[in-house]
Amino acid sequence: MAERLQKVMANAGVASRRASEKLILAGKVMVNGQVVTELGTKVTGADVILVNGQAIDQEKKAYYLFYKPRGVISAVSDDKGRKVVTDYFEEIPERLYPVGRLDYDTSGLLLMTNDGQLANALMHPRFKVDKVYVAKVKGLVQSEDLKRLRQGLVVDGKKTAKAKAKLLKQDKAKEISLVQLTIHEGRYHQVKKMFEALGYRVNKLKRERYAFLDLSGLTSGDYRKLTAAEVKGLK
Ligand code: URA
Repeated sequence: MAERLQKVMANAGVASRRASEKLILAGKVMVNGQVVTELGTKVTGADVILVNGQAIDQEKKAYYLFYKPRGVISAVSDDKGRKVVTDYFEEIPERLYPVGRLDYDTSGLLLMTNDGQLANALMHPRFKVDKVYVAKVKGLVQSEDLKRLRQGLVVDGKKTAKAKAKLLKQDKAKEISLVQLTIHEGRYHQVKKMFEALGYRVNKLKRERYAFLDLSGLTSGDYRKLTAAEVKGLK
């Protein structure tokens, strides 16, 4: 979320909002290497702000587990005006952003934080964080297909890593299968594309687990703070 520079400075404990305005007008504040003297300037958590040559990053680290509903963008803003995940966190003072993304039409567990270091580490392929999805698939998924999902198949010209796949339910009359898929990669539309590679369409997708975290106690649109032990467990 973009906010006025003087507000961000005040939240960071630099000075009061009024005193921060004076610092801006006096040419003491730089944003991304440029001196800024405009009081209306808006900044986001991605901007580097220097006051008298010192970087400000006083924001307390915050960690939340969010049950993202379908129909919400995994971003902090959307140029088409659609609902974004940060809309659910308006009363939280820290500038949170999502760790990775879930598709607009995917629901489920999404971590939200302002800890860039942890977010980057979790998203790095080296860390192999398990993510458990449940996919409602059009068609009757065969055991051969489950085997191929487990072994890895070619998506966008590259083989997927080994995965876990389990058939949870099948409705023969409606020709619908419910499949639990555990992957640790985070490629774009990965689950949908893995099923697509086998000739199936995913009608609904939900992420039920991320590392050791699940959605217990939450309903769609809810969030909760991670405990200190959970944060430690992710690091
Ligand atoms: N795989 C997908 O296809 N979509 C998601 O949102 C997450 C994983």
